[in-house]
Amino acid sequence: MLVCLNGHKINDRFKTCPDKNLKYCNICGKETIIRCEHCNSYIQGKQLDQFVQTSSTPLLKSYCHNCGEPYPWTTIDKASKDKAEDFEFNQIGIDVVFNKLHTVAKQLLIRYNDRETIKINDEYDVQDLMYSLLKMYYLDIRAEEWNPSYAGRSTRSDFLLKNEEIVIEVKKTNKNLKDKKIGEQLIIDIEKYQAHPNCKKLYCFIYDPEEFIINPAGLIGDLEKPKREIEVKIIIKPER
Ligand SMILES: [Zn+2]
Ligand SMILES: [Zn+2]
Repeated sequence: MLVCLNGHKINDRFKTCPDKNLKYCNICGKETIIRCEHCNSYIQGKQLDQFVQTSSTPLLKSYCHNCGEPYPWTTIDKASKDKAEDFEFNQIGIDVVFNKLHTVAKQLLIRYNDRETIKINDEYDVQDLMYSLLKMYYLDIRAEEWNPSYAGRSTRSDFLLKNEEIVIEVKKTNKNLKDKKIGEQLIIDIEKYQAHPNCKKLYCFIYDPEEFIINPAGLIGDLEKPKREIEVKIIIKPER
């Protein structure tokens, strides 16, 4: 978005409609900018990383989506208040994805003329579906690849929601991966993210459609209870 240093919106389509670009604001005369002065990333309107894109002009953010620094037209206080509000709002996307993943997985099995579809058989299938659903809500989703001791030669791939500083880890239960083993693995995974520079909150999503977990409440309690550097949430779905 092209804006002036006082925060007047000049052109939210500066690439596709460059004829509307101005070097100086036609309201206050201040210079215009398209990039954050701190990290050089494009200035985004609010709706770009929120749920719905409408045709109306996006709201102007008070802080940079990339580096978090306040934009020149705002105060540090306003920017941090907005950041906290956005953080809360961002939880909604995660909640919807976690709550609806099982419903979507079931629906995907019903296809016209039995055409090809995604069937959830293992952790990788859950990951792919989760990734697609998260795309509806989040702009910057990155894969965090690492090699935990329990995985032998295979690597784990978790999701980092960069702007939200949230990591989502996905597990799928099976006859060899129930309460005890999944708990042991998650302790290792949780430990790993304690020192991660971009992780403030860790969600461990356990997909358990066949109900292999015998005591969901016990597993959640054991894993969430200890005091840690970062917040840890254990989610077991579908709920019983
Ligand atoms: Zn202006
Ligand atoms: Zn920035």
